[in-house]
Amino acid sequence: MRPEASGVGTKSEKPSSIDVSRVDEALLADLLANTTELLSLYNRDFRLTHYAARLKGLYGDAVVPGAAIWEIYPSFLDTRCRDEFLRVFQGGSAASIELPRSSGEAPRSVFVFGTANGVGIIESQGQGGRSAAEEQEHLILLHQATHDVLTGLQNRRRFGERLQEALAAIGGPKPKAALLQIDLDDFKSVNDTLGHGAGDTLLQLAAGRIRDALQDGESAYRYAGDEFAVIQLGKEQPVEAERLAGTLVKAFKDPFVINGIPVFVGSSIGIAFGPEHGTDGEQLMKAADIALYAAKTDGRGCARTFNRSMLLLLEQRENLRRSLRTALERGELYIEYQPLIRPPSSVIGFEALLRWRHPEIGIIPPSVFIPIAEADGLMDEIGRWVLEQACRQALAWPSWLTVAVNLSPAQFLSGSLTDTVAQIIDAVGIRADRIELEITETVLLEKTIDNIDTLNTLNVLGIRISLDDFGTYYSSLSYLKNFPFDTLKIDQYFIKDLEIDLKSQTIVRSIIKLAHGLGISVTAEGVETSAQARWLVEEHCDCLQGNFLGVPLGAEATSDFIRRSPSKGGRALEESNRAL
Ligand code: C2E
Ligand code: MG
Ligand code: MG
Repeated sequence: MRPEASGVGTKSEKPSSIDVSRVDEALLADLLANTTELLSLYNRDFRLTHYAARLKGLYGDAVVPGAAIWEIYPSFLDTRCRDEFLRVFQGGSAASIELPRSSGEAPRSVFVFGTANGVGIIESQGQGGRSAAEEQEHLILLHQATHDVLTGLQNRRRFGERLQEALAAIGGPKPKAALLQIDLDDFKSVNDTLGHGAGDTLLQLAAGRIRDALQDGESAYRYAGDEFAVIQLGKEQPVEAERLAGTLVKAFKDPFVINGIPVFVGSSIGIAFGPEHGTDGEQLMKAADIALYAAKTDGRGCARTFNRSMLLLLEQRENLRRSLRTALERGELYIEYQPLIRPPSSVIGFEALLRWRHPEIGIIPPSVFIPIAEADGLMDEIGRWVLEQACRQALAWPSWLTVAVNLSPAQFLSGSLTDTVAQIIDAVGIRADRIELEITETVLLEKTIDNIDTLNTLNVLGIRISLDDFGTYYSSLSYLKNFPFDTLKIDQYFIKDLEIDLKSQTIVRSIIKLAHGLGISVTAEGVETSAQARWLVEEHCDCLQGNFLGVPLGAEATSDFIRRSPSKGGRALEESNRAL
């Protein structure tokens, strides 16, 4: 039943109609499982009803019962192909139709014939009379070339082709194509902590969740690493893309169970539409990528649709990046110091908090520029500067006061952290036990074993280590078991609603008990009211930090603050204690 490759739109003498419903289903199933033809049958709604197993081997996930014809052959959205196809569909005689092809691709044609229920297609498999075995081999190679081995999804190459085809076909019955770029949140930490095997399993499970969310007209690709993409064709937009994105985000809320361990990995999604956000693949991908970036910076685990104002944000960030490179040399970075208070009223030290005074924008908080500095590889150098600067400042204070300095993951990764710290202590001439280094759990997630070594070495030097922002990230208790922490800092998230939220109270109370049981001191961050302070003191919290006790101050103001000791912060706490 192989058609002759008879050129564009050439009429054929073959019968133009067969009645699939009258063929014995078992026989048909047998035929479809074994035929070497790339055969597919569609109903009057252009939906796939029957197909040869080989077709699935070739086109993968696009081939599912109910798939629209243009998902398998997007070329049918192309005006010329469509007209020719519709002619057959509307009862015309069968025809061989040459498909438009992208550069470098071999010519492809399909044989289209009417059936009693709709239409059938047999794809021509090229010239040269391959043997069945060669055909099989050819198909396997084709599958490998177009599919990702790990997840079975179509690969980057196929993605590029399909996107191009989809965009070329726009303007037909469905005016839009949607591209969804999907990126897993925290994939890197899973890979780094649980190993690459677990990372691979996660990618497979993630691919499965994406695949399960798909409907007609949607096809999924693994684009790179932990980046996936879905192309939607022939859909009502933007509603359908937004619906799918919502489904996908939700599908990633449940934990993935890997080797028995539940792992939470969310997904962030960027959406762009062709032709309005891009008329070629590259443009559209760039737009979706910018939207994805917006989703990531909006807190991850969400979807964003591209809009022009995102370009503006990107440009601003670009500008920030450029000026950050020279901020240190130009003396635009400076440090503020926030007091750490031990009840009832002693100032025991200060936390160094970095600031950037931008000549045009003004003061930029660290939450904005530190991620940029980290991404740009500047944080190692900046971090070193902060440490040295803060140590020098501390020398101007009474010798019982400590200085706490935040470390970024980048400083750990550089591998020379302990040397750097030792050199700075030496150069400045400060006692190591006056220094406290604050790290967050993100530091521990990467290269865990090396990091234990680093922390131990710092400990041996006499430096104290605190675990910052405890309670917000993984809060894994194994860190508390394996790392020599001196202090645990409870994140302000739990402190801010301490007065009204019984759950926060229970959590904070338990963290304090837990830490004390392990011989670790506890600091509460973000104490803003006297009621919070009182509650924490009653619960035996060792140290308080927050605007109620003292806001971060410049170097000079800090010295004044110390001189006015017992400080304002100390006094505020004393008064609130008296009110008990
Ligand atoms: P962090 O280490 O948890 O610092 C405490 C943050 O809480 C500071 O924000 C501080 O200004 C703020 N804060 C203190 N008391 C209160 C309060 O009563 N209410 C509220 N709402 N906030 C309060 P800041 O200075 O914006 O710093 C944010 C984060 O940036 C820091 O969180 C730290 O993770 C990071 N950071 C700051 N300086 C450095 C640095 O030199 N190196 C590194 N790697 N990270 C830094
Ligand atoms: Mg800190
Ligand atoms: Mg903190």
